[in-house]
Amino acid sequence: MTDLSALTSSAYKQALEVIASVEPRVAEATRKELEDQRASLKLIASENYASPAVLMTMGTWFSDKYAEGTVGHRFYAGCQNVDTVETLAAEHAKELFGAEYAYAQPHSGIDANLTAYWAILAQRVEGPWLENVGVKNMNDLSEADWEKLRHELGNQRLLGMSLDAGGHLTHGFRPNISGKMFHQNQYGTDPVTGLIDYDALRAKAKEFKPLILVAGYSAYPRRVNFAKMREIADEVGATLMVDMAHFAGLVAGKVFTGDENPVPFADVVTTTTHKSLRGPRGGLILATKEYAGNVDRGCPMVLGGPLSHVMAAKAVALAEAKTESFQTYAQNVADNAKSLADGFLKRGAKLVTGGTDNHLVLLDVTSFGLTGRQAEQALLDAGVVTNRNSVPADPNGAWYTSGIRFGTPALTTRGFGHDEFDNVADLVVDVLKNTTPGVTKDGGSSKATYKLADGVADKTRAASAEMLDKHPLYPGLDLA
Ligand SMILES: *Cc1c(COP(=O)(O)O)cnc(C)c1O
Repeated sequence: MTDLSALTSSAYKQALEVIASVEPRVAEATRKELEDQRASLKLIASENYASPAVLMTMGTWFSDKYAEGTVGHRFYAGCQNVDTVETLAAEHAKELFGAEYAYAQPHSGIDANLTAYWAILAQRVEGPWLENVGVKNMNDLSEADWEKLRHELGNQRLLGMSLDAGGHLTHGFRPNISGKMFHQNQYGTDPVTGLIDYDALRAKAKEFKPLILVAGYSAYPRRVNFAKMREIADEVGATLMVDMAHFAGLVAGKVFTGDENPVPFADVVTTTTHKSLRGPRGGLILATKEYAGNVDRGCPMVLGGPLSHVMAAKAVALAEAKTESFQTYAQNVADNAKSLADGFLKRGAKLVTGGTDNHLVLLDVTSFGLTGRQAEQALLDAGVVTNRNSVPADPNGAWYTSGIRFGTPALTTRGFGHDEFDNVADLVVDVLKNTTPGVTKDGGSSKATYKLADGVADKTRAASAEMLDKHPLYPGLDLA
């Protein structure tokens, strides 16, 4: 068998030499980035480590090709090889997820959502409206009718999960364009259990009557019942869109099956490809046949020219995700999240929803007397990379927050298991117990500044390094 790590090492060494011949500082930063990633305890729930095959696929001349349009119908000549890789990506996605249609062009998760929203508006609002007026093409509309259609398109309703319950900005919130495109309303979680209350959601949907019901999250540590979501959408005539950006890897890896698998229930499913799915940085849309035609219009309606090199890498990553070893990986991601959550609970820490059954854990740091910002920074000082996150009804607001979000996809890729994640919980709790809030000018407790007790950062770094050395990132990849 070929020694892939030796091949990878020599390929990257040579690539860096080529880069250094033009701009050595970029080559140096690239080396340094590998060093830093290798040396950090990466617990950011939205990050992962793609395979060398996926990474290398992105660094080719596919980047040089313009390919606006769709497979077989491009606005540029000479797209036969782009057609090959885009078709492969879409076919792999359809097979892997059991979807009727897949669109591999979105450049990111946000782009995928915006593309999906316009596809749904076209399907549900524009198409029927044109039919009503009796024209096939919107260019045939009079100015007055065009104004009316624009008004219709701009006045639709969207119901999504609230930000502090774990929803995403693109689910209709003001700082994102989705919040300006739609009248938005939101469902939250039960104040006692922290879980989605489907009855409350149903009541809200019946009252609000959204055109689009969005399910999916970035910070909800539990599984979602998509069969129930479908029922609710049907009761109010909404299109069900599921944004599985965070948990696509658990769907691909068959950890989420039955009612927990969104694909058989949703009209449109959007995702990123770089989080738990472990592919290149990008987006992907799955849809039923009904919505396929309008999703296919994504470029140039919403998206710029497709990133052919990234679509090629999506095809490679999706081929990886079809393997049995990816299924094992996905199961380990979920098992490890449990180990981490149990590790926190047995050391007396408080978790939103009291635990996890996906890939992420949301720690409420108020019991340590800290804000999320203080906890995040103290952990970073100790080499533990996480991000602060709101908790439901957050007393510290969206900037300081009261939570820290942890995810297991990245370290599971490195081979961390139960014992390591239990140890991670121990290190985190130790850092937080040894962190105290700073004092403001008027003698109050600061939400931003903090003091980490002497020696804790070094001790934590040493303990992390021991685990990281045992589970090297890209084993065998040597740039020396
Ligand atoms: C990460 C995320 C996105 C955005 O993905 P980008 O690739 O950063 O644009 C969208 N939706 C959800 C639920 C996410 O978690």
